[in-house]
Amino acid sequence: MAWRYDFSNQQASVFFLDNSTPAPKRELWPAGLCFDDELITQVTGIGGGIEALARAYQHHSNQVRIVERDRIVGPVEADGLVTGLDSFALAVLTADCVPVAFSTKGAVGIAHCGWKGIVGGILAESVKAIRELVGDPSANVEAAVGPHICVECYEFEGPSKAEVKKKYGDSAFRTVLASSHLDLGALISYELSELGVSADFTNDQCTNQTDTLNSYRGDGSELRQTSFVVKGPWLGSLMVDG
Ligand SMILES: [Zn+2]
Repeated sequence: MAWRYDFSNQQASVFFLDNSTPAPKRELWPAGLCFDDELITQVTGIGGGIEALARAYQHHSNQVRIVERDRIVGPVEADGLVTGLDSFALAVLTADCVPVAFSTKGAVGIAHCGWKGIVGGILAESVKAIRELVGDPSANVEAAVGPHICVECYEFEGPSKAEVKKKYGDSAFRTVLASSHLDLGALISYELSELGVSADFTNDQCTNQTDTLNSYRGDGSELRQTSFVVKGPWLGSLMVDG
């Protein structure tokens, strides 16, 4: 099944898939642009209407690439993708990290956000890239935040904590059973608010507490779920299984 979120301009939607649509092995779905209809159907769980599917090699960076009709601009290593093209699905794979999709009039984007990427500025870089793409530095951008590990389930200690604390202070953490936990959703909410982006959190189920979602921290899963954003006037009629 999938959670679908329609952006208010009705010209773009994001689909947060669960593990009933397992991400295919990476050798079958290499990073880059994919035009293989069969693979697109397998990955997205929906068939017709999607012309191409794009994903990057995610590496917890703040790098964002533009997807054009026949190429991804720059190296395929990135954690954010943006495009102005209709029917091009931009995807990220996650299992506790946060998929965040963006929409503005004329473009969409998606980002893979773990603590490292958030601290590094992946959200700001994504919003900047989408605004540059439509040529309006103050363009109204909406965001939708997908399933990720919740603060109760995300114990966060050690050297990484100092890095997060340096940027966000103590308010990023909550004490749960005497240990320090990180609230990824709160960091994202803060960052997006600073960027003037409205965010929807109705699809932020906890990956660890939801049976149909893969969780790296919960069960050491190597499996990931796919989230993708796509724009196009044809989206209204699109149904999703489940
Ligand atoms: Zn949880």
